[in-house]
Amino acid sequence: MNQNQCPTCDSELDWQGHYQCTQCDVSFKKVGFCPDCEAELEKLQACGAANYFCNSCNELKSKSRVRFEFHKLDS
Ligand SMILES: [Zn+2]
Ligand SMILES: [Zn+2]
Repeated sequence: MNQNQCPTCDSELDWQGHYQCTQCDVSFKKVGFCPDCEAELEKLQACGAANYFCNSCNELKSKSRVRFEFHKLDS
């Protein structure tokens, strides 16, 4: 299953330091949301693995439960 799809045109996003749709010529950032309280999660990079921390619940969230959205980057 491909999770990195453009929310506008459904084509696969390229990774270029950020996510980019070459069809729409739009850049996106991937934002994780807490599955429990819907707050935006903070991404913590540790030992090559990404962890997602909810400042609202004050705990780490399992990546498999995190809900991801692509948000347009302003250029
Ligand atoms: Zn697109
Ligand atoms: Zn939370």
